[in-house]
Amino acid sequence: MVALYHKVQRVETLQEMAEKETKAFKKRAGIDCLCHCSDCCRYEQIEATPLEFMPLAWHAYKLDLLEDWLEALEKHDSPACFFARFENGRWGCKIYHLRGMICRLFGFSGLTDKNGKVKFAVCHSLKEKSPKTVEKAKEYVEKGGKMPLLCNFYRRLTAIDFVLANQYLPINQAIKKALEMVYFHFCYKR
Ligand code: SF4
Ligand code: SF4
Repeated sequence: MVALYHKVQRVETLQEMAEKETKAFKKRAGIDCLCHCSDCCRYEQIEATPLEFMPLAWHAYKLDLLEDWLEALEKHDSPACFFARFENGRWGCKIYHLRGMICRLFGFSGLTDKNGKVKFAVCHSLKEKSPKTVEKAKEYVEKGGKMPLLCNFYRRLTAIDFVLANQYLPINQAIKKALEMVYFHFCYKR
């Protein structure tokens, strides 16, 4: 139990760091999400790793929600994220504070090309609806402005658990796998 909890804590720390870095980047580059936009959460081809959802699974166990969520995920027949919810006239994330690494970095992080050059991986919605802001943020990056890099955070996840951090799955499968890992972990403890 200690080993699993230790991993969960390390993932949480890394995810908090990702959140802090994206926030700082948004501020410095003068860019942010479109108002009430959750387009990325409704995208049907999001990939994630089970490791980034281990904190969520751990909390689900603590809140006695593990089995309910596993059952509901079995019945969930859409490729869109299970936790993307339409409530009070808008879309949002049902587990926002426990969302995965990709959810924290998407739209406000960078990729590196084969020459090591950093490229702002901006989302399609911002590109389309806020092109001027995107151009300014790109200029900031091109001038060497600091931004979180997706590969750095995923590399650090790998250092926590190589296997669980290297399985890129459709998001619902990644969530399910994380829930199952915690479920079986506690089953064997009984
Ligand atoms: S990252 Fe882009 S698509 Fe996602 S909520 Fe923000 S503006 Fe919308
Ligand atoms: S976990 Fe939340 S933030 Fe991540 S894709 Fe699903 S709904 Fe969006």
